[in-house]
Parts: sequence; C-alpha cells; structure tokens
Amino acid sequence: MPEGPSIVFLKNKLQRFKGQTVSEASGYSEMDKSAIDHIKIMDIETYGKNLFFVFKDFFVGVHLGLFGSMLVNKRKKVNASFALHFPHSEINFYVAKTHLYQGKPSDHFNFKTDILKKEYDGEFVLKSIREDHTEEMIGDVLLDQKLFTGVGNIIRIESLYRAKIHPDSLVKDIPEKKLVYLIETVVNYAYEFLDFLKNDEVKEKALIYEKKICPKDKTELIAEEMGKVHRKTYVCPKCQKLYS
Ligand SMILES: [Zn+2]
Repeated sequence: MPEGPSIVFLKNKLQRFKGQTVSEASGYSEMDKSAIDHIKIMDIETYGKNLFFVFKDFFVGVHLGLFGSMLVNKRKKVNASFALHFPHSEINFYVAKTHLYQGKPSDHFNFKTDILKKEYDGEFVLKSIREDHTEEMIGDVLLDQKLFTGVGNIIRIESLYRAKIHPDSLVKDIPEKKLVYLIETVVNYAYEFLDFLKNDEVKEKALIYEKKICPKDKTELIAEEMGKVHRKTYVCPKCQKLYS
C-alpha cells in the first residue's frame, strides 16, 4: 500500500502538469467530472495518502488505496477509474477513489499532522496523543491518519524499531521523552523512505520489515498481526521495550 512518501513521489513526478489546462476528465468513478473542463491546474499537492489536483475554486482528491496505481502517457488494458487529459498527454489512475472538494485543501485538512508537510507540528501531535489517546497502543495510534497523516505499515514498523518501542505499549506508559523521539523518528524515516523510492529500494533498506532476524542482535523477529488494527507487524523482542 502506498504510504505518504509514495504519494509525494508521485506528486514530484507530476510537477510539469502544474499550470497546464485539462481538456477533459474521464473515468468510471462516480464523482461528477463536468466541472473539470478546459480548466487550469493551479497546484498539485498531497495530504498523507491523498493526491490533490487543485483548481481555482475546488480540488480533486485521489486515493490509491490498496491496489491503486498511476500511469502518465500510458494505459493499462483495463479502464481508468479517473483520468485527466491534456492536448498532448494524459494521467491515468487505476482502482483509485476520487472525491471533489469545494475550496482549498487547507480548508478541509489539518496540515499540522502531515509527516511530510512543512506545516508539520510535532508538538501538536504529541499533545493530541497525550490528551486523547492515552489508553491506546502506540502501534495502533501510528496508523491513525488524523494523528500521523501519511504513516503506513512500513513507516510504523521501522519507526517503532528505531525508537526501540514495542507496538503494544500503551501511550500512557511510554515516557514523554520516548514519545518525542518516536515522533521525530517517524518524520526522519519518512524522508529517508522518499529518498529510497528514487531507486526502488524501500524494502531492501528496511531494517526489520519483511525480515526474519534483528540486524543488531540477530534475534529472531516476531512477525504477526498485532493491535486493534490487525496489521502484520515485525518486532524484535530484545530491542523493543514493552512499556507497561
Ligand atoms: Zn534486536
């Protein structure tokens, strides 16, 4: 599944379309596309796992979900769920969900929680989790898109390993310093992830995601569904402390 950095990576690929005029939008998605007709793309932005095409008075959010993909000037055999056409090029999305929003992205979304935005505010995130999520497991909290916008399973697993925290630790039991360190680690790793995408080496460079042993102490990793999110999780029982 694409994570925040994967969407920023797509956005960076699309920069040349900024300022271009869309001649037509198509695709089988149910969203009303009639307003996207000979209008200029003012900006292309992201929010977590969403890609936004920003027009003057509205914007379209594209979410790739589990199986979505994007092709520029190429087509798959199946129909695109959403496509933007230009006089000499086209952007096609497959198995993507789309939504049309009135106004600007910042009217709808809180950029302070987006791990890859310049508006990101770690103190705001720390305060939010310590006020309203104390009884939750940190491994679950990390996937909450309202708190850690853009974090997916790889970032979650790798950040907890780097911060030496067991995912089943409850927020209230984790020392504040450790939480601060985890929040910083999530952001730093997200930028590393973005860098790894350039050479398609995210999985290769992962320390424990889809691995069998801990690179530090050679302990066998635990790999099982954990938490309320029931996502496959990798943990080193030696390095990662369960706070309780
Ligand atoms: Zn270890």
